[in-house]
Order: sequence, then structure tokens, then C-alpha cells
Amino acid sequence: MIDDQQRWLAAGLLPHEMTHSWNGKYRRPDGLATPDYQKPMEGDLLWVYEGLTQYLGFVLTARSGLWTNDQFMQETAETAAALNHTPGRTWRPLQDTADAAQILYGSAQEFENWRRSVDFYPEGFLIWLDVDTTIRQMTNGQKTLNDFCRLFHGGQNTPPMVIKYKFDDVVKTLNQVVPNDWAKFLRDRLDSYGPDAPLGGITNGGWKLVYDENINDLNKDMESVRHVVDARFSIGLTLDEEGGIHDVIMNSVAWNAGIAPSMTLVAVNGRKYTPAILREALKAGKGNGPNLELLVRNGDFFKTHTLNYHDGEKYAHLMREESKPDILSEIIKPLAK
Ligand SMILES: [Zn+2]
Repeated sequence: MIDDQQRWLAAGLLPHEMTHSWNGKYRRPDGLATPDYQKPMEGDLLWVYEGLTQYLGFVLTARSGLWTNDQFMQETAETAAALNHTPGRTWRPLQDTADAAQILYGSAQEFENWRRSVDFYPEGFLIWLDVDTTIRQMTNGQKTLNDFCRLFHGGQNTPPMVIKYKFDDVVKTLNQVVPNDWAKFLRDRLDSYGPDAPLGGITNGGWKLVYDENINDLNKDMESVRHVVDARFSIGLTLDEEGGIHDVIMNSVAWNAGIAPSMTLVAVNGRKYTPAILREALKAGKGNGPNLELLVRNGDFFKTHTLNYHDGEKYAHLMREESKPDILSEIIKPLAK
């Protein structure tokens, strides 16, 4: 907490866990409120248990000042961009990541973008942002997700207890806030297949997801704390400082050139790999620059893979859409007492 970089990356933890006191411990999905360890847990509502907690956790981190508004925007951009580079979305709907939570929590990082991970956290964040901005739009700002939380998680002050709920209870409470076809709204987002993440909350919120070559502070912090290089949005690679390739996004430029996870990047354009050398080569190849020549070791075998890539580095940002009201900034303002 006394290190600026570490604090940013860890700041969301306490607001997230505090939220669980209401969303998860007091109100718990029926399938997760098992009486003993012999009955298997059913995680179909984890997009509420963890997804709504992820949303409220981010919002409270900003509202409480543990993040600046800009840090919240960068986290949101990163979440949205990562899901937009998860091709596993085309075969595995979000609902199935919740149903398969027991398996996905422990799965390897290799091929994660195709298998999908516990995406009910980050994609749950986007869905609940979508719900919040939709409530605000439908009621001209008179109602918000806070009203849902008061109804769903509020009540009398009592000794500890668990009140179970099902999908229909979530829908019923949303309808008490503002009547809408919430069942369809939610099921559309939970059961759909497609390459694109649900970004309605960001666009309704008055912002848009953009990419440019300027690394943002969040990426810088993540790279420096975790000793990784994040080239997902450009050539489709995540790797470490020693060249160990963690994952390759399916159908990305690196993937199509034959590079796979667990190989090792040895040299870039004939020079020994370092993160800085890779970045320089990405910049130099932009536009009419040279192709990217990656010398990769696969076990005892070395091979040069040529990537016909000329778009430079790419990092995600949120940009204000001036024609729309800035609901996102409104959401992360501290509540009036
Ligand atoms: Zn949690």
C-alpha cells in the first residue's frame, strides 16, 4: 500500500471484498448456498455474485478516492479491450464460464483467450455497467443501480443470515426500480456468442473504447510489477521479460505466423530480445517499415517467424464522446450524504 504502482493494482481488493458482505454473503445465489461440502456448488449466478461485486468494487474504489477518475477509466478500457480480444467468446457464452467456474479457476494461462477464463468477473462488470447506465437513461437520472442495491441487499439490521435468490429474483427487483424486459436484457448478454464484448455501458456512459500507440499508466504498472510484456492488442502476444510466451491470441498476427504459447522469443529482427527491442521493432515496422522477424525457440528447435504487421504498438483507452452526457463520471462521484 506504500508503493504507488502496487497500490493502484491492489486498490480494488478491499472495496470488492467489502461488497461481498452484502452481495455474496448476505444475499447468495441458491446454487452457491450449499448446506455441506458433499453437495456440489452450482455457479450459474456467479455473474451476480462476482460480476456485480466486480462492478461495485471498481465503482467504490473510485468513489472512495483509492483510484482517481482517470485510473477508473483506464481499468474500464483494459477490461473492455481484453474481452474484445477473447476469441473464445465466439464459442463459449458468458453463462458457460459461470457454470464451469470450478474448472476455469484452476486452468492454465496457455490458450486462455480461446478457452476463456472466469470472465464473469470482467464481463460481469461490463454487464452491470450496462444495467446501471440503462436505468439512469430510462429514468432520466432519477434512479440508479444504487436503488437496486438498496432493495436487493438492504433491509433490517439483523444478526448474520443468508438470504438465497434465483435469476427471477434479480429480474423482479430490477423491475421494481424501472420496468423493462430485464430477463431478455440479461439473457441476451449471458447467452450470446460473438467476437464483441458488451460495451453498451461504456457508450451509454458517454465514452468510447479506442486504441493508440501510447502505453497508458495501467499497462506500465502491470508490466513493471508482473514482469511481463503485453502486446495482445498489436501482434497478439503476452510474454515475460525473458521471452517466455505466455499466450498467443488465436487468429492474431503472431498466431497466424505459427507462434504458440510456451515457446520462447529469442531475437527480434536479428537482435537479442528485450522488451525494449520488441517495442522499438513494432514502432519501426509501422506503415512502410520492415516486417517483424521473430526468432523463436520451441524446445530444441529454432525458427524465424515473419509477421507482416505494420500497425505499431496498440494500447486501449477510453475517450470521451462529447455528444453524450458523461454518465460514467457521474457514477463514480462520491454519493451525497
Ligand atoms: Zn469476489
